[in-house]
Amino acid sequence: MFVVLLGPPGAGKGTQAERIAKATGLLHVSTGDMFREHVRNETELGQLAKSYMDKGELVPDEVTISMLNERISRDDASEGVMFDGFPRNVPQAKALDDALAERAKKIDRALLISARDEELVSRLSGRWICRQCGRLFHERFDPPAEAGKCDACGGELYQRDDDKADVVRTRLEKQKPAPELIDHYRQAGVLHEVDGERSIDEVTTALLEALR
Ligand SMILES: [Zn+2]
Repeated sequence: MFVVLLGPPGAGKGTQAERIAKATGLLHVSTGDMFREHVRNETELGQLAKSYMDKGELVPDEVTISMLNERISRDDASEGVMFDGFPRNVPQAKALDDALAERAKKIDRALLISARDEELVSRLSGRWICRQCGRLFHERFDPPAEAGKCDACGGELYQRDDDKADVVRTRLEKQKPAPELIDHYRQAGVLHEVDGERSIDEVTTALLEALR
């Protein structure tokens, strides 16, 4: 079975990917891990990818797709793969469809973990750090006893720019799955949407249900 896992940052995609891989035995292929492996092993594709990353540019689709093609040609991928972090847009989705079609395979399921923007912003933006001892707090999940003050040392708490709500909101807009990409899989009849606002266990159960 070939599965694409989609979801915005903060929806718990990484955690769920690990749980699903463990429960189903599906090979988890994350594009981040794949890039790192190629760069570490100094493969031709890795060096090519690195030349773009060093310039702060996006790695072109052709390079990523070549890496994916190589990855799905290995023995451990013959029974199925769960793709994580790819595809990010419709051209990539079509390239993946083509690569699988050459092996007489297809995407069997696209699992979308969804959550409202406000919920994601609240999860992603609530982090506060102690200026003195560096302890981390979260407004919602691990709040300090007194707002703005560290429980451990009494130091002042501050927020990094990256953890501020408006910055998180902008990043979320850029990183959440494009509606056209979701439509691509809906039209193929393989999309399963799961409510990511439920507990971690409930989300796992729903995802495993969708894979039956
Ligand atoms: Zn402190």
